[in-house]
Amino acid sequence: MTSYDVLIIGSGPAGLWAAEELAKKKPGLSIAIIEKGSFSSGGLMNDCKLNLSTDIGMELDELKISRQEAEKYIQEIDAKFLELGADQKLHGTEQKEIDKWVTRARRCGVDLVACKQRHVGTDESKNLINKYKAQLESLKVKFFLNREVKSIRRKDERFLLTTNKGELRSKFLLVAPGRDGAYWFRKQASRLKIKYSWGPIDVGVRIEMPSEIYDPITDIIYDPKFKFITKTHHDKTRTFCTNKGGKVRIEPANGKGFSLINGDALKRVKTQNTNFAILNTINLTEPYADTLEMGRDIAKETVRLGGGKPIIQRMGDFLAGNRSKMSTFFDKAKHYDTLKPTLPIGIAVVPGDITLAYRGRIIDNIRDTIIALDKIIPGIADAPNLIYAPEIKFYDTKYFTSQGLETNVPNLFIAGDGVGKSRGIVGAAMTGMIAARGIIKKIS
Ligand SMILES: Cc1cc2nc3c(=O)[nH]c(=O)nc-3n(C[C@H](O)[C@H](O)[C@H](O)COP(=O)(O)OP(=O)(O)OC[C@H]3O[C@@H](n4cnc5c(N)ncnc54)[C@H](O)[C@@H]3O)c2cc1C
Repeated sequence: MTSYDVLIIGSGPAGLWAAEELAKKKPGLSIAIIEKGSFSSGGLMNDCKLNLSTDIGMELDELKISRQEAEKYIQEIDAKFLELGADQKLHGTEQKEIDKWVTRARRCGVDLVACKQRHVGTDESKNLINKYKAQLESLKVKFFLNREVKSIRRKDERFLLTTNKGELRSKFLLVAPGRDGAYWFRKQASRLKIKYSWGPIDVGVRIEMPSEIYDPITDIIYDPKFKFITKTHHDKTRTFCTNKGGKVRIEPANGKGFSLINGDALKRVKTQNTNFAILNTINLTEPYADTLEMGRDIAKETVRLGGGKPIIQRMGDFLAGNRSKMSTFFDKAKHYDTLKPTLPIGIAVVPGDITLAYRGRIIDNIRDTIIALDKIIPGIADAPNLIYAPEIKFYDTKYFTSQGLETNVPNLFIAGDGVGKSRGIVGAAMTGMIAARGIIKKIS
């Protein structure tokens, strides 16, 4: 068995940025990152749009930091990305044009949040991660890849981690398992008596359309964040993760029993399509508040209706409440032949009926959002456009933490999306740094 000062579970942005902070500020600490995948590092390997704003992907109250502090973290994170080779081009700087869009959205009763963004691209992010990993290794951070932590126990004032390849011990533990590990960690948290409550969940769909429809806005704002209060139920929805010239992607099941929809874009090779998500935020209170379980049920039901695969539906069918079928999916009479999905039909996704798979209220909210958005950007509701489901963001469980993200279990810190502290790469990296500083404070 090997013993470390600090063990970090998860090599996503939260884990990596935490490791650098610890290694640089406290040289001599023995630090190891444990990652169940064969490659570092989690969601960083995807599209990698960097939202450089305190309004996106983080809640300052939850993190117990001021806006100024958060801005300083963001600057540091952005500088690191540039050092690692991210594109210098900064999107979202044409303020006059942005203001026009904000006003236009407002006239339709919709808020538009624009921020400075950088895009790395799925094709570039691997190089960037390799470079970061090499830097961390030169700072003596040890990486255990293909190592899955099965359980966490507390023994003799230390943490004892059982993995698929033996046991590891540490004085401090930072858990940053991402959305993929959220369910696993919650079970550990219950056993370790870590205090938590339920938080909201985002359930939605991904829209795909010809890029030319969305170009007028994406040429100005790389990933526009529209926020809606829906007409029928007055619920909150928003647009999320826009990928101009990108592809719709499948997030693999990884033992969960269902796969999910997502999207990304390459830096160099572009498609003719743009995709983005519409997400409906759901809060539950009593008598049932387990949003994680609810999200899993919705995902399972959707994939079950798709015969084990996510569902795709033509916008025209969705709005009319009709099922999309293989036989009519490219129907010329409906102009369905004018838009080819970026995911192969029948192989990755199957035509079906999202209105049957999702709960009525969620469908109403998605429909209201599409209609409202179509007013701002005509063409969103065109019949040949595509809708994919399930797209669900699992960052529901809210763990109670101190200022440095320490839980009620002494020396057990948490960071990133999987523990409800962030919603995106920059936010996750920031929480990693905050937790690292929390650990350093306890050591000093
Ligand atoms: C297709 C796709 C596109 C995305 N695009 C963007 C984008 O453009 N911009 C953006 O800001 N965000 C994007 N995201 C979200 C982003 O990836 C996450 O917000 C971010 O990666 C969260 O970081 P994290 O460190 O909390 O977790 P992760 O990056 O998910 O890393 C957690 C790591 O922990 C590992 N792990 C989990 N459990 C265990 C265990 N028991 N033992 C060992 N290892 C474990 C996982 O394998 C994983 O590698 C995208 C996500 C996807 C899936």
